[in-house]
Amino acid sequence: MSFASLGLCEPILRTIDEQKYAEPFPIQVEAIPAILSGRDVMAAAQTGTGKTASFTLPLLQRLAGGCKVKSNHVRALILAPTRELALQIAENIATYGKQLPLKTAVVYGGVKINPQMMKLRGGVDVLVATPGRLLDLFGKNALKFAQVETLVLDEADRMLDMGFIGDILKILALLPKQRQNLLFSATVSDDLRTLTKALLNNPVQIEVNPRNSAAVNVKQSVYEVDKKMKPALLSHLLRDRNWAQVLVFARTKKEADRLVKQLEGDNISAVAIHGDKSQNQRARALTRFKANQFRVLIATDIAARGLDINELPHVINFDLPKLPENYIHRIGRTGRAGAEGEGISLVCADEVKLLAAIESLICQTLVREVEAGFAPTHRVPLTRQQQVRPKKLKKPKQKRAVD
Ligand code: AMP
Repeated sequence: MSFASLGLCEPILRTIDEQKYAEPFPIQVEAIPAILSGRDVMAAAQTGTGKTASFTLPLLQRLAGGCKVKSNHVRALILAPTRELALQIAENIATYGKQLPLKTAVVYGGVKINPQMMKLRGGVDVLVATPGRLLDLFGKNALKFAQVETLVLDEADRMLDMGFIGDILKILALLPKQRQNLLFSATVSDDLRTLTKALLNNPVQIEVNPRNSAAVNVKQSVYEVDKKMKPALLSHLLRDRNWAQVLVFARTKKEADRLVKQLEGDNISAVAIHGDKSQNQRARALTRFKANQFRVLIATDIAARGLDINELPHVINFDLPKLPENYIHRIGRTGRAGAEGEGISLVCADEVKLLAAIESLICQTLVREVEAGFAPTHRVPLTRQQQVRPKKLKKPKQKRAVD
């Protein structure tokens, strides 16, 4: 299967060639023709499957053939839950659309609003935005939605988890009724299904991975350890395994900062990104991490959402996430675009319930490991379902030979 056979035009095919994409990923095979034909799309696709290209490529092509954008207007609106993801989508658009005469902007909170208002003055063909800042800009008359042809909700599940439903509904009410709607989500919950019913019109449904599954090419395991020994085990694993680049998830900002201090004390270079860091600090940390200037990036769930670090081989959950869906998002940071990855969770006895919820969501029992010298005083028990032994098979009654 080639990208050309999906109906993409020459300028876009040239940029795909430059990216050295040999052939389209499954989600792209399904989504690109559907979006080009103007259909609504609902895609349950994990991160790392190539979903960003699956909507940006056809979107850019459709916009390139359309009318001119007026001052302060927008023709395609892409909503993303976090600044990092918004920036990443905008980067993709800049790459894929560089041969096309389209104007793009990205807006998010936490930075001054005036430069963003200036950028919107002449109108933009594609606007990538976080919901809160979009509404702020609308409130300041910096944005008009009458020309919106396409709305994309990326990582819609995450937007709901983060409590954006109110903002999303406000935005929907401001948009023209006639438009194309595209919705992408890694996990599918009941709330999401309600949103899709309200938003999508006879959508093409795409599901490239089994629903709520963690990336298949990621080797996952659980290291059982006592809570107080977790920091020492983390340093030990980082030293012992000699991994080059590791993303560590911590549940709170405080813990992320504490771990950085500890690792630096152990001569392991580390930087934290979380909600208390400025946008510039986060972007700088990410660039330096991608350039291998330090070994360990420690992130909270919100800050890490949307990170795309090519061939990131190792993810460590210092704590299990409170929401089981976040386990899938965290593990999705590795094993991207077909690369192999490893996801390790440090689990103490307090986290048994969280582990059980994760295992039930991904329909998988994770392999338990104990690192020599770190054996826990309390083992992490298997969940009740896992303890149930298969019933002994009854011996089949011997059939009387019939001759
Ligand atoms: P995404 O799921 O959109 O975050 O994409 C994950 C990664 O896959 C990104 O680094 C893309 O550059 C890469 N990618 C997207 N489409 C292809 C393709 N057809 N072949 C190879 N890599 C791709």
